[in-house]
Amino acid sequence: MRTVIIGAGPAGLSAAYHLKENSILIEKEKNVGGLGRSREVDFFIFDHAGHIFFSKDMYANNLFADLLPGNHHFQERNSWIFSQDVYTRYPFQSNLFGLPQKTIDECIQGLKTALENKGNAAPQNFDEWIEANFGAGIAKHFMRPYNKKVWARPLEHLDFSWIEDRVKVPSLEDVIGGSKASIEDRYGPNSQFGYPLRGGCQSLMDAFLPRLKNTDLCLKTELWEIDVRNRGITLSSGQSMGYKFLLSSIPLPDLVMKIIDAPKEIVKMADLLRHTSVHCVNIGIDRENLTDKHWIYYPEEKFIFQRLFIQSNASPYVCPEGTTSLTAEISHSQHKPIDAENIISRTINDIVKTGLIKSESEVLATDHLNIEYGYIVFDQNRTACVEGIRKFLEEHNIIPIGRYGEWNYFNLDHAFLSGKAAAERINAGKI
Ligand SMILES: Cc1cc2nc3c(=O)[nH]c(=O)nc-3n(C[C@H](O)[C@H](O)[C@H](O)COP(=O)(O)OP(=O)(O)OC[C@H]3O[C@@H](n4cnc5c(N)ncnc54)[C@H](O)[C@@H]3O)c2cc1C
Repeated sequence: MRTVIIGAGPAGLSAAYHLKENSILIEKEKNVGGLGRSREVDFFIFDHAGHIFFSKDMYANNLFADLLPGNHHFQERNSWIFSQDVYTRYPFQSNLFGLPQKTIDECIQGLKTALENKGNAAPQNFDEWIEANFGAGIAKHFMRPYNKKVWARPLEHLDFSWIEDRVKVPSLEDVIGGSKASIEDRYGPNSQFGYPLRGGCQSLMDAFLPRLKNTDLCLKTELWEIDVRNRGITLSSGQSMGYKFLLSSIPLPDLVMKIIDAPKEIVKMADLLRHTSVHCVNIGIDRENLTDKHWIYYPEEKFIFQRLFIQSNASPYVCPEGTTSLTAEISHSQHKPIDAENIISRTINDIVKTGLIKSESEVLATDHLNIEYGYIVFDQNRTACVEGIRKFLEEHNIIPIGRYGEWNYFNLDHAFLSGKAAAERINAGKI
């Protein structure tokens, strides 16, 4: 019996690449890459949500470079926030310069008060964490509205275990300094990022294929059912097979639903896992040099999207000469339903409102896709449920991998490393 890997996204591809023994890689779509796929629409190459590469991990950085010899380049991040009709540098909290004086005063005063109250009461959720660390002004003008848009739910529902170095907590001196002058801030792991020169993110994903020497790849084949007692699976093709180990990168709740007669407590845990979905609206524009920014955050509700990623600034080769391409990200959930029917026209209207384009007549290409599993929600149930499900799965030689398998805030690099870690456990006989 062989090891079976489910899902040929970044985690599954990396697992197959690092596994020393023969394996079968099963993917329901017609090409590999998962959310790292790109698609071509009217000569524009659009990623699923625009995927830049960055990592603090040396191995992941080397892997990225090795996979794309001569086809990658690195750039310094140029990201901004647009609010109150003003562009300010990212991150908002240490770059208030340019905002109305009243807003700056509220942000600085709020932070002073927060610092005075520090240690009075430990924050119990993300909303309280924001107020405790940034004060009422920064919370009001960016942190709350932006995060509500991204997470598409009340911020009291979230904990703050996912933050690590994703959100900068500046000192009062930093905030005051950043309110007086526009200073480039190289904070965070994505302050420098890589991107394939040609072919969009798909070329990074496809680069695994010639390196998968021990792997049989089955595309357009979906995992249907898992029989944990007999260590076997059934596929959409009707084929059944046994597995030695099953490495799964499909979303954890979906995986549990595929297990025949899964214990009730495991199903209950899977039911408690929450996620946010993301609409991605891709737009091709009949103008070059629309902006020099790589991405722009939009905290205000008057814009449907929370972020525009200017894909043609990641690489000039993803769009025809003389044009620009961008992706609008729009989170949604049962707490924040979005009408998908008119989503392209609403997005274009709102891009006009930003002033980036003058009218709809500048639009050359449009495309829309919905990412059902976008962001993992970190709430009070997540850790215990993920641990409980994982323990049960491992008893049956099933190892969840990747962002949605491990149910974690993973980027491409973490997904690569997650697949690698699982493969290495098998290589070393440590499972
Ligand atoms: C809006 C958004 C923007 C992002 N931007 C970035 C970024 O700029 N940089 C970055 O590093 N990361 C980014 N990420 C994160 C990145 O997309 C993920 O970390 C990465 O794709 C996770 O890879 P994965 O292999 O774990 O999962 P996926 O990419 O989801 O791959 C899972 C694969 O499993 C397949 N599959 C699912 N069910 C089945 C089944 N039943 N049978 C067979 N196959 C199945 C799917 O088709 C898919 O190919 C972003 C994520 C989102 C949502």
